[in-house]
Amino acid sequence: MSMMSVKGFDAFYGRSQALRNFSIELKSGEVLCLLGRNGAGKTTALKTIMGTVRPAAGTLMLDGKDLTGVPAKDIPRAGIGYVPQGRRLFTELTVWENLEIGLWTRNTNVSALDHALELFPVLKERMTQRSGTLSGGEQTMLAMARAMCINPSVIMLDEPTEGLMPSAIAGIRDAVIRLRDEGVAVLLVEQRVDAVLSIANRVAFMDHGEIKAEFDIEEVRANPELLHHYVGVG
Ligand code: ATP
Repeated sequence: MSMMSVKGFDAFYGRSQALRNFSIELKSGEVLCLLGRNGAGKTTALKTIMGTVRPAAGTLMLDGKDLTGVPAKDIPRAGIGYVPQGRRLFTELTVWENLEIGLWTRNTNVSALDHALELFPVLKERMTQRSGTLSGGEQTMLAMARAMCINPSVIMLDEPTEGLMPSAIAGIRDAVIRLRDEGVAVLLVEQRVDAVLSIANRVAFMDHGEIKAEFDIEEVRANPELLHHYVGVG
């Protein structure tokens, strides 16, 4: 059973502190939702785990391995997949070319790609299509498939349903559930309360760079005013 543990991350942009003692634990087969108002530091938390923002303090462990200070280029290979906000696909390139880049840069094998395509069969029919012409939901699935090319134990998704139509949102929710059921540990930044309530196992509320509280999803369902209290929704 795999496990990611972040302890005591501090991060700064210049002199402004964006993360304060940020700590989370994430187990395989569960979805942890990170919630917080705009500017709370959710994206920074993911970037610090990915190594593109350097923590000033704190540790990152994955499956007993210390990944603290490991360069960003080596983090995916260590087992952490990332679907950034806005997806960051090469929109002029085809579906296949985007996946191929995922394979090269992560130095992985084709069986992982086959597996990713089993999870997202819609992409198989679109391999030669320019990725910028896919629907929003399909583009998100492509970004998820690209992240799955490393057989990650953890996958982090930054607002994967942002800007999508309800039908596409349902498709992404199903895809996240498939990953979770495969035993992947999922860290999800998501603003949509319905999506959070339907897929999260736990919810962590963030404010001013800090985790203020964490609840099992049953507690949030039973007390939806928690959402209002911590993020002003619900
Ligand atoms: P959103 O929901 O709007 O994406 P967020 O919770 O993801 O918000 P972050 O993007 O992590 O928040 O931002 C946390 C804080 O750090 C904000 O005050 C933001 O203005 C600041 N910040 C983010 N990126 C940078 C940067 N590259 N340089 C300077 N400050 C930044």
